[in-house]
Amino acid sequence: MDCSKNNGISLGFSKRSDNPEILKGARKFERIVIIIMLVLTAIPISVCAVLENGKYLIIGAILSSIFLFALVFRECKRLIQKPFEGIVTDKYVKEKYYTSKNENFISRTRKIIYYLRIKTNDGKELIRKLDNDRFYNYLNIGDKVRFHPKLNGYYEKYDKSHDEYLICPSCLGENSPKNDRCTHCNVPILK
Ligand SMILES: [Zn+2]
Repeated sequence: MDCSKNNGISLGFSKRSDNPEILKGARKFERIVIIIMLVLTAIPISVCAVLENGKYLIIGAILSSIFLFALVFRECKRLIQKPFEGIVTDKYVKEKYYTSKNENFISRTRKIIYYLRIKTNDGKELIRKLDNDRFYNYLNIGDKVRFHPKLNGYYEKYDKSHDEYLICPSCLGENSPKNDRCTHCNVPILK
């Protein structure tokens, strides 16, 4: 991968982070995530309620409660997050295995969890667990970053001048550095 080519984006954090269109796009994206999670929460209890005259209702209720708790926990965490700036000092993954038993077989599911270690400008060492590999792949060790909680936990690079792609602050889709707006959701790109 040739990362040496300058894409013409000047150094510095974007002045667009308070752009109302970007904030509106990020809120809309978050609402969609919440709706999907609420639907997933309702599925176990609804299915178990009709299955064999409600024999498994308690299991469904427990599963739905776990999903609901995860949703509430996610939203609380999101609301208390504060913006910061710092340097990425490390990035790594951890593997987790989940075992589920059935009458006939045992299945093992592997989940990869992505982490960033960031030293903030005020000297704190932060370990940030990521929802997926999007920012794990985008950021490199040594990158100066700004964290935007209002943009659904967006990590913006100070130096985007050698990026082969930029991440949309609303839908997190990949875009060419030449784009002024996201090709997926049409929200302005943070540059
Ligand atoms: Zn987008």
